[in-house]
Amino acid sequence: MENIDKGIVPKAELHCHIEGAANPQLVTSQALKYDVDISKIIHNGAFVWSNFAEFLKCYDGAASLFRSHDDYALLSETYLSELALNGCIYSEVFISTDHARMVGISEEEYIEGLAAGMRQAKQKHDIESRMIATGLRHEGPESVIRAATYIANNPHPLVTGFGMGGEERMYSPRDFIEGFEIAREAGLAITSHAGELVGPESIQDTLKYLKPHRIGHGVRAIEDNKLVSELAEKEIVLECCPGSNIALGLYPTFRDHPFVALRDSGVLVTLNSDDPPHFDTSLANEYRLAEFEFGLSRNELVEITKTAINAAFVDQKTRISLLEKIENI
Ligand SMILES: [Zn+2]
Repeated sequence: MENIDKGIVPKAELHCHIEGAANPQLVTSQALKYDVDISKIIHNGAFVWSNFAEFLKCYDGAASLFRSHDDYALLSETYLSELALNGCIYSEVFISTDHARMVGISEEEYIEGLAAGMRQAKQKHDIESRMIATGLRHEGPESVIRAATYIANNPHPLVTGFGMGGEERMYSPRDFIEGFEIAREAGLAITSHAGELVGPESIQDTLKYLKPHRIGHGVRAIEDNKLVSELAEKEIVLECCPGSNIALGLYPTFRDHPFVALRDSGVLVTLNSDDPPHFDTSLANEYRLAEFEFGLSRNELVEITKTAINAAFVDQKTRISLLEKIENI
């Protein structure tokens, strides 16, 4: 394990949007490459936004600067290398074929570009990674059906999951049954954002209609005791992103965040960075926050990493080798 120091907490990430993972330095160099003015979204080397609408503008502005196979290869290699150097052994990233179409490249070029960067990162830093194809909720059921159909017809060994991101306050999980069925039939594992901007009912409906293995965020389950018990009983893993929740104002402080309460209730929780540079965080920072804000010990942090690996959308052989790797760090 050339890049991982003995003693560092081994980490894994299940919830990160690849376009949202481009750091300001990389976005700045892409802006120079395409001669685009980014002064409205980056000031003094950091993304600037002050509300959800501005955040989305910032996200789309950065995403629009990745326009080719090589741009996406650079993006995934840069992100995964940074993770690996901070002790991460496994990463799943959300990809959006709709985003690719918006910047004018084919789905194939987009996925192959990201995959090339993932292979490079694995070769150089021994980090394993996979992609989760997603539809955009606010674009409606067609976006989800389109994304699922594309992946079902064009399977890729590194695309192992299917999910849905975007504006949670639009549509109901029920509207997306068809798209998720297409993905499930194609053999993809399922996750979906829920219980972030909308309360426990969005998680209940997601469980009922989309039948996910995991839930993106899901923290607002805490508002319904029965749902908390159900999540624990069914071993539905939550992809928690505390730094993102605080940055977006879901909870005023880390003391108000339900991560510890969910964990104490037996819910399987993991730590993730969501759109790291936009929320001034990183996976390593989320682990640090869990240690200092939530009081978790090193062993408890390692258990969280094991939870993530056990819930990872990988084959058994890869899972076993990742679990062994944790024991050897
Ligand atoms: Zn997310």
